[in-house]
Amino acid sequence: MTLPLRPELKGLSPYGAPQQAVAARLNVNENPYSPPPAVVDAIAAAVHQAAAGLNRYPDRDFTALRADLANYLAAESHVDFLEPHNMWAGNGSNEVMLHLHQAFGGPGRTTLTFSPTYSMYPEYARDTFTNYVSLPRMDDFRLDLDRAVAGIAEHKPTLVIVASPNNPSGTALSLDDIKTLAAACAEVPGGSVLVIDEAYAEFRRRGVPSAASLLPETPHLVVTRTMSKAFGLAGGRLGYLAASRQVVEALQIVRLPYHLSAITQAAARAALAHHSELQAQVDEIRAERDDTVDWLRAQGYTVPDTDANFAYFGPVKDRDAVFNGLLEHGVLIRVVGPEGWMRVSVGTAREMAMFRNALLEVTA
Ligand SMILES: *Cc1c(COP(=O)(O)O)cnc(C)c1O
Repeated sequence: MTLPLRPELKGLSPYGAPQQAVAARLNVNENPYSPPPAVVDAIAAAVHQAAAGLNRYPDRDFTALRADLANYLAAESHVDFLEPHNMWAGNGSNEVMLHLHQAFGGPGRTTLTFSPTYSMYPEYARDTFTNYVSLPRMDDFRLDLDRAVAGIAEHKPTLVIVASPNNPSGTALSLDDIKTLAAACAEVPGGSVLVIDEAYAEFRRRGVPSAASLLPETPHLVVTRTMSKAFGLAGGRLGYLAASRQVVEALQIVRLPYHLSAITQAAARAALAHHSELQAQVDEIRAERDDTVDWLRAQGYTVPDTDANFAYFGPVKDRDAVFNGLLEHGVLIRVVGPEGWMRVSVGTAREMAMFRNALLEVTA
């Protein structure tokens, strides 16, 4: 049988990091701690209640969830101006990013990013027939702002996406950097939306403001977040964003009706009501991260300063061999970005001890 697969999809394999049941799964930046039993009960009770109404379609506009998300972000990022109409959500921030591309990308348009960065960005562009341009970061993985501003003027992207902290490098942008990028986007004829992907924002150092604080004066700014990382709810599939009302209204046009199931809405709301219990170990993860960075540096690796729950390290001589060697020791990490670099997610103290011991053995 000949399938009329789009020619640009021929020979491609589906994206996804390995899911292997090893002792230390340190490859997709999950929170290593399961939800505490009281939160499991609260989520189960909320889902139980929602189940009784499953004969009906869910609230298409998930108004209650949007209000909860606005309240959470207000508390977490000290921003008090967010209304439900400023919030949008999807099945993971992956879906929210796809909505952004469906609304603001498309044929003849360009998404601009800065490499190395999150491996899904080119896929959202491909799936929406949007051109994809990725400019290199500096050797230390920070953004070269002059080059970024020049790139925005040259490529006139309708979408600029910067992860902060960046995956895989962990490097974060300052508010001044974001203002500079936003100003460059404002110069693009026809408009350009600046997306700051704050998937790891909860791990940032204390006192560092979120890009969300710039929203009132920056209507073309979008700040995306997820419950998959610090929140410890990767299995719940809930990503969201904060933006101006006009941006959210545009996204409502392209979303499929009822894209957030009643089960998802109920589970996410119950989790949001218990956000502090779910994030109880974030301080611990931060401390473990800092120890991991210190240790890697002491071994002679270069590690960029990281505001996330992972560390990026190099140079590693034969990274595929190191990856396989670690796996034989029950430690799964990630080969990603330029040759010689690897990323390890921060797990529990026990998992990190396994990682350190295994790395020493494999590279001995
Ligand atoms: C993990 C991650 C996400 C989260 O994706 P979800 O679909 O919400 O699970 C988004 N952006 C970056 C850069 C990530 O690393």
